[in-house]
Amino acid sequence: MLNSKDLLTEMGLCPNKALGQNFLVDASALSRIAEIADCHGMPVLEIGPGLGALTNELVQDASRLLAVEIDRRMADALMLQFQTQPNLKIVCRDFLKYSDEEIAAELGSSQIVVAANLPYYITSPICARLLESRLPIHRMVLMMQDEAAERFTAKPKAKNYGPLSILAQYLYDVSVVSKLSPASYYPAPDVNSTVLLFERNTNIMPKAMPKILRSAFAMRRKTLLNNMLGIMPKQTSLSAIECAGLEPTVRAEALNADDFVRLAMAVEHIAD
Ligand code: SAM
Repeated sequence: MLNSKDLLTEMGLCPNKALGQNFLVDASALSRIAEIADCHGMPVLEIGPGLGALTNELVQDASRLLAVEIDRRMADALMLQFQTQPNLKIVCRDFLKYSDEEIAAELGSSQIVVAANLPYYITSPICARLLESRLPIHRMVLMMQDEAAERFTAKPKAKNYGPLSILAQYLYDVSVVSKLSPASYYPAPDVNSTVLLFERNTNIMPKAMPKILRSAFAMRRKTLLNNMLGIMPKQTSLSAIECAGLEPTVRAEALNADDFVRLAMAVEHIAD
């Protein structure tokens, strides 16, 4: 298979910067990502397949591969390239507007693997969508710029510690697989990238947790209590904080995932 740079030339296509189109052209990085994804016989969801560099690796092992690409030009080129591949479904959609139910209808109910070289401009919304999803995600291999990746491994009190760090580290074991320089991409971005592996830890998460996390970190300098007043009355907030064994004056950045699980469970209990 030609690499994405040669395919672009052959098809007379230009990368669309606004859609974060930096194609991975490093063959060894591509096979390493497929190896880490380890999707033998499993359904796979790929976000932003572009011209299919990673798709080509994943499709060899996946039982079924659903590739969701927003750019019609890329989706058409993919359909042409992979028209004889029976286990690949290419969908031209905005991933952020693709529901869990629609994805499950394509991939079935068994555990899935997610793989993506994420578009930089919406890395956080896509990751939040995946972390809050009710899909049976078993493992994710996600490529993103260094600065974004640091959020997923950040510890309490770190500058970039926030809702995504907590959700990711609660639901998954997160580890750094490799670092990629701009030379691995075409066109080369201005930043370095990191490949992260998310291995599922638990499927149990209180429903209220994402909303509570967002409100707790809404204003980083405010106390937990003051931030929670944005979504619930003072008495409910105080009871939930006390029930979770926390201090109302604490700041969200000092709390860990277990603290937020207790807090979300207390809120749900009080609301019942
Ligand atoms: N997977 C390819 C590779 O590694 O060479 C392309 C990766 S490129 C960084 C990101 C891809 O995501 C682009 O093909 C872009 O068109 C696509 N994309 C951008 N926004 C999207 C969205 N909201 N939903 C689905 N795909 C999107």
